[in-house]
Amino acid sequence: SLSGKIALITGSNSGIGLGVARVLAARGATVALNSFSDTPEDHALAQEIAAETGADVRYIQADMSNADACRAFVAKAAEAFGGVDILVNNAGVQHVAPIQDFSVAKWDQIIAINLSSAFHTTAAALPLMRARGWGRVVNIASAHGLTASPFKSAYVAAKHGIVGFTKVTALETAEQPITANAICPGYVLTPLVEAQIPDTMKEYGMDRDTVIREVMLARQPSKEFATVEQIGGTVAFLCSSDAAQITGTTISVDGGWTAL
Ligand code: NAD
Repeated sequence: SLSGKIALITGSNSGIGLGVARVLAARGATVALNSFSDTPEDHALAQEIAAETGADVRYIQADMSNADACRAFVAKAAEAFGGVDILVNNAGVQHVAPIQDFSVAKWDQIIAINLSSAFHTTAAALPLMRARGWGRVVNIASAHGLTASPFKSAYVAAKHGIVGFTKVTALETAEQPITANAICPGYVLTPLVEAQIPDTMKEYGMDRDTVIREVMLARQPSKEFATVEQIGGTVAFLCSSDAAQITGTTISVDGGWTAL
């Protein structure tokens, strides 16, 4: 059980982050939900998970493309809940274009949200984990943290970067009861994946079903999408005592993608 543990999940009003939040709250953790927006729906989502699970769940707005906002998110959550035990760096965006046409603004945004935000939140969270004498950092990387695809230069660079950053975090916490690992999902059918289907259809000149079957799941030998619940379960495993000596590594949840 994660009862008594305080979990912060960046980018968690949708997709994988939301799935992870539901799993951790169901196992008793106190959860800070986050995104860049600040709507009644965001706060209602926190209330809904709290009502379903009995956990203390609150929505804390912070834009993960901004360094100060990342650090302030950790400080605010720690103040609201009394500390930080689990940090899940999940916020991420995607953009698909050939390198020569890749917008500079998109490159900078993807590096900021998918990579630099984890540096800022981790920097703010580690002293708080050390103070409470326990910690888990789980970075949601990707199969694209271990392999590449054309047209995803910024995303692949950021995801390889976060795998490296995870290893450094593990080494700097190795003698403390703190671990840092990265989960590398293959394709999970979330709004992020939905949004890239039209661009991929254009790049490859294919229809939707062909893109799903021959581009996306072509690399996923199971021919099935992974689910947000499976990613949540993997985070929960990494937070368990069975995983106390698992640190500085990656766990693929990719239907065999990286075995190919
Ligand atoms: P999603 O679009 O459903 O969710 C992304 C989340 O990040 C949302 O909650 C969004 O609000 C948040 N976010 C975006 N910009 C933000 C910002 N500036 N500040 C704060 N929050 C922000 O996508 P998803 O598929 O659930 O992706 C979640 C993570 O999983 C990403 O890091 C993604 O790279 C990774 N991932 C996804 C897949 C997949 O197939 N879906 C595969 C591998 C890795």
